[in-house]
Amino acid sequence: MLKKTSEMTVLVAGGAGFVGSHLCEALLRQGHRVICLDSFLTGAMENVQALCNFREFRLIRHDVVDAVELAEPVDRVYNLASPASPPQYQADPVHTMLTNVLGTKNLLALAAANGARFLQASTSEVYGDPEEHPQREDYRGHVNCTGSRACYDEGKRAAEALCYDFLRAGSVDVRVARIFNTYGPHMQANDGRIVSNLIVQALRGAALTVYGSGQQTRSFCFVSDLVAGLMALMEAEERPDGPVNIGNPDEFTVGELATMVQRLIPNGSQVEYHPLPEDDPRRRRPDISKARELLGWSPQVPLAKGLPETIAWFSKGMSPAPKLDPV
Ligand code: NAD
Ligand code: UDP
Repeated sequence: MLKKTSEMTVLVAGGAGFVGSHLCEALLRQGHRVICLDSFLTGAMENVQALCNFREFRLIRHDVVDAVELAEPVDRVYNLASPASPPQYQADPVHTMLTNVLGTKNLLALAAANGARFLQASTSEVYGDPEEHPQREDYRGHVNCTGSRACYDEGKRAAEALCYDFLRAGSVDVRVARIFNTYGPHMQANDGRIVSNLIVQALRGAALTVYGSGQQTRSFCFVSDLVAGLMALMEAEERPDGPVNIGNPDEFTVGELATMVQRLIPNGSQVEYHPLPEDDPRRRRPDISKARELLGWSPQVPLAKGLPETIAWFSKGMSPAPKLDPV
C-alpha cells in the first residue's frame, strides 16, 4: 500500500525502461515523489502507464545528452538512462557513448546544483571479458576499447570516472552500482537479450537462438532483487568506498538457460546455434561480498523462481500493469 506522505523527491533518469519502471514503482510505494525522465529510446510508455495516475509521479520526455533542468528541487538522482541490450546500444554507438558520458555529466551537474545524492547504474561490462573469476570490485577489467561493445563499456567506465571526479571535488555524494545481468517483467520482447529472446521464441514455438557453443556463462538477477540493492546502496548511511557489485552469483551457461526454458515452455522448440558476437564475455559472475557486508543485501529470488514468473508475465501478452491503488 502506498504511503500518503511524500518523503523525498527522486529523479529516475531512464525510469521508463525495464529496471527503471520497477524502481519508480518501488519508490512510490515508499511514499516518495518520483520524477521519471526518459527519452523512450528503449523504454516503453506501457511500463509506466499505471504510475501516471498518481499525483506523486511525473513523467518528462527528455534526452539526457542535453542539459537537464527541472522546475523543482530533487533529493536523489538515479541515473539509469542508457540502452543496456547489446543490439540496442550498438544501433547508434555514438549516441550510446554520449548518453553515458554527457548524460552522466548533465545529471551529476543537476545533483550538484540540488545537493542531491546520486546513484550511477554502472555495469559488469566494465570488467569486459574478465580474466579474473568471479569478478570483485577491485578487478580493473579487460575491455576492448575499440570494439563494437566499447561505446557501452567505455562509456560506462568514463561515467564511473566522472562520478568519482564529482565526489572528489566535494560536489556530489555519489554511489556506483555495477549491475550484472538482470531479468524479469517489463523486458521488451524484442530487446535482443538472452532471457527475453529465449522466452519469446519458446512461447512462439520458434527455434531458441544460442550464440556460440552456449558454454559462455552469465549470472542472472531477478529485477526485484536488483531494485532492492540499488535502493539499499542509495540509502546506505555510510557511503561505500568505490563501486559495489549488485547481481546474483548463481552462474549458468547459456545452454543451461536454454534447457530450463525448454522445460518450462514445452512447445517443441529446438536450439539453433548462431555465431558468437564480437567480444562476447566468456564468463561472468559477481563477487557480492561487498554488498553483503556494507549493505546487508543479497539476492532472494533464484532463477528457478524468477524465470517462471517472467515467463508468466510474457505469456500474459507482455501486459505491464503494476497493481497500485490510486491515492
Ligand atoms: P532499458 O533499455 O530497458 O532502460 C533504459 C532506459 O533509459 C530506457 O527507458 C531508455 O529509453 C532510457 N534512455 C536511454 N538513453 C537515454 C537518453 N539518452 N536520455 C534519456 N533516456 C534514455 O535498460 P535496463 O535494463 O532497464 O537498464 C537500466 C540501466 O541499468 C542502464 O543504465 C543499464 O546500463 C544498467 N544495467 C542494466 C543491466 C541489465 O541486465 N538490465 C545490466 C547492467 C547494467
Ligand atoms: N545470447 C544468446 N542468444 C540470444 C541472445 C544472447 O546466446 O538470443 C548470448 C550472448 O551471446 C551472451 C549471453 O547470451 O553470451 C548474454 O547475452 P545478453 O545480450 O543477454 O547480455 P550480455 O551479458 O551479453 O550483455
